[in-house]
Amino acid sequence: MLDTDFFRRWLAVSAGSVEREEARLTELDSAIGDADHGSNLRRGFAAVVAALDRDTPGTPGAVLILAGRQLISSVGGASGPLYGTLLRSAGKELGDAPEVTPEQLAGALRAGVDAVARLGGARPGDKTMLDALEPSVTALEESPEGFAEAADAAGRGAVATVPMRARKGRASYLGERSMGHQDPGATSSALLLDALAEAARELRGTGTGAGR
Ligand code: ADP
Ligand code: MG
Repeated sequence: MLDTDFFRRWLAVSAGSVEREEARLTELDSAIGDADHGSNLRRGFAAVVAALDRDTPGTPGAVLILAGRQLISSVGGASGPLYGTLLRSAGKELGDAPEVTPEQLAGALRAGVDAVARLGGARPGDKTMLDALEPSVTALEESPEGFAEAADAAGRGAVATVPMRARKGRASYLGERSMGHQDPGATSSALLLDALAEAARELRGTGTGAGR
């Protein structure tokens, strides 16, 4: 089972990873955007960590809803509301259960990804975060405990954005010139899925067993 601490851990690992990779995310965004994706997410996840320390939400759903709200309110760029919606919708889907199964997490992330697609109007192939999120959530639906496989799917999805032409967001203003660059949002989505896999590895390491 995945408890509140697991979700806190996921977000803390995400925050660390976003901070480490800030320069790379911004560099990717400078090629096809406005060079703020790294700083946007660093600020957003720092706000998430601070809020989780302050408020100590008591369920997995409450952790994700609080985190989503922080991303929406602290990030100016498109990615804040989109990632915020991802986490908030996933959190709502989990309800007030004190612990959830990996199957329930997969279902919650599906609800989150669908909400991102509704909000942003993008589809896989449009060179956005959905190109990493969609295949990773599909992988989790097929194998809910396969966190490492889901992270791999997200990483492959991010790399697969390189030849794509952007159809949504700032990068779409570049038309064909967006081709040949990896999408920053798909890259950060892969980091978040890596962080999920890391949190699951830590849980297994303690012997309580993710999903057992
Ligand atoms: P902004 O584009 O406002 O500067 P960021 O640089 O933080 O915001 O985030 C850019 C990323 O957001 C893109 O790389 C892309 O993955 C994602 N994105 C932008 N628009 C959309 C959309 N409509 N749907 C899904 N993802 C989007
Ligand atoms: Mg940007």
